[in-house]
Amino acid sequence: MINTTTVPILGFAAYSGTGKTTLLEALLPQLTEAALRIGMLKHAHHNFDVDKEGKDSYRLRKAGATQMLISSRNRYALMTETPDAESEFEYLLTRFDCDKLDIILVEGCKNIAFPKIELHREVVGKPWLYPNDTNIIAIAADTQVDDSDLPQMDINDLDSIAEFVIQYARQGGQESQSPAACCDTLSPAFLSVTQGQEKILSLVNTVTDTESCSVESSFGRVLAGDIISPVNVPQYTNSAMDGYAIRGDDLDRQHYQIVAEVLAGHAYDRPLEKGQAVKIMTGAPTPELADTVVMREQATETSDGVTFSGATIKQGQNVRQAGEDLPMGSDVFSQGQRLSSAEMGMIASLGFGDCDVYRKLKVAVFSTGDEVQAPGSEQKANSIFDSNRFTIMGMLQNLGCEILDFGILEDDQQTMVDALQQASAQADVVITSGGVSVGDADYIKLALDQLGSIDFWRINMRPGRPLAFGQINDKPFFGLPGNPVAVMVSFINFVEPALRKMQGEVDWQPLKVNAIATESLRSRQGRTEFSRGVYQLDSRGQLTVTTTGKQGSGILRSMSEANCLIEISPAVDTVKVGESVTIIPLQGRI
Ligand code: AMP
Ligand code: MG
Repeated sequence: MINTTTVPILGFAAYSGTGKTTLLEALLPQLTEAALRIGMLKHAHHNFDVDKEGKDSYRLRKAGATQMLISSRNRYALMTETPDAESEFEYLLTRFDCDKLDIILVEGCKNIAFPKIELHREVVGKPWLYPNDTNIIAIAADTQVDDSDLPQMDINDLDSIAEFVIQYARQGGQESQSPAACCDTLSPAFLSVTQGQEKILSLVNTVTDTESCSVESSFGRVLAGDIISPVNVPQYTNSAMDGYAIRGDDLDRQHYQIVAEVLAGHAYDRPLEKGQAVKIMTGAPTPELADTVVMREQATETSDGVTFSGATIKQGQNVRQAGEDLPMGSDVFSQGQRLSSAEMGMIASLGFGDCDVYRKLKVAVFSTGDEVQAPGSEQKANSIFDSNRFTIMGMLQNLGCEILDFGILEDDQQTMVDALQQASAQADVVITSGGVSVGDADYIKLALDQLGSIDFWRINMRPGRPLAFGQINDKPFFGLPGNPVAVMVSFINFVEPALRKMQGEVDWQPLKVNAIATESLRSRQGRTEFSRGVYQLDSRGQLTVTTTGKQGSGILRSMSEANCLIEISPAVDTVKVGESVTIIPLQGRI
């Protein structure tokens, strides 16, 4: 549950037409009568506006105020524009002044996990919510249900509903539905994605060895020291255009004498005098006292010089100053920066032929399972070809790791113990896939128990619930699930951040953005759902996302078709068409 406030919250869940607002309007006087101080949160249609056209606040908002706080003797209102995405429920709750409230009532927000009373009227003809929503804690309806132990009230009996709410508020909300209880922290064996990530990151360390690396082979490496500019960039003041260099204190003249022509890589080595111009090419140094360049298109050469009739000339135009991009001594890149094309070019532009980087990580990879067979051979009965080792190796290559391929381990405890020992002696990290699910009789678990301190976690996510993590010979060990999609999603969420930290990268966070869902998405409350998605700009220029279709965790093709993961947070169980959802672009990561 997501009540981050100290005040109990209670929702009223119903289909439209049930009369939620009317009921609340009648209920509130009874609650205030009982001395409850009430906060209301209501979810409204996106076109809704509290302001009135023509009012000062309206005019100021339209004129560009992102936040508009309007106040009078009796009330104040803060209107905040959220053009990109609707604010998260948790965030909205933090807007309340909880010291002044006894309960927050919520109208709408049906898909978000927090305690609610279901309101139901037969005439509306809609299905019941309670069978599929564990957040319903009571029912107020015009009919009885037999298959539920929940407290039931008559929807027309305001006194009982009020009594229920008053009791609820006095008890400080529902203990069993408190924030931790229905979510991720209930059992230590169950971890949220974030908790798993944090645990792992706190247990892995950056390698200490560094080495010098030539700039041309530095792609993907991580800087082990800061890069400080030893030069001015550009090194000298130069022309930004092909044209004519003149003095800025000599602009009112009709005609200039051309005293030289300077190409890039050459220079005019005398101070420019008044009345003189130097014909100059882009990138060539401007002569002393010549601080202005007129572009060639605005010039007419005459038999004895050049004129710029009609051109408006401003002193200093079309000239790039020495050190304008980077002054000598300035910080260019910091330790922990991963290098790619632009950084390679920058480092070279400063004159460095090589740079200090962290040494490469060595990562050992295994597959496990008697049914798993190496590709490139005739398929045996009852077996599948190994794909996990290859997706893992691809992702490791992408991260610039050195790969130690230990092949497929047969289901034999001693073989596994030996291989894991050997791998952990040679590598910085050991990764396996398969054999870590709950109830799995695989030998890898027995082997791991024998070897080191390994925890078998259940992560509240799909795909990729089982995950083993620990140390063998002080080397981090990841036991990824067996299903091919789960392997990739677990790698992205847990292995990649750890490897990046070990490689020396500082505070790396994956890019996440919001997109509008073009199909409705379902997820179970309390777990993070990673669907494979395809995002694109629609014809209106809006970022939209759709799934790749069937989402089984064995359908590896979905990872190939996807360009993002759609992340549905534990608090949400349905995303409707048109609603905003978080996506994690995969470009450059898999
Ligand atoms: P497990 O967790 O070992 O029960 O594996 C779960 C599923 O993933 C089973 O259907 C396995 O056959 C499959 N699987 C395990 N390892 C691999 C692999 N290396 N490549 C492809 N599929 C695998
Ligand atoms: Mg297995």
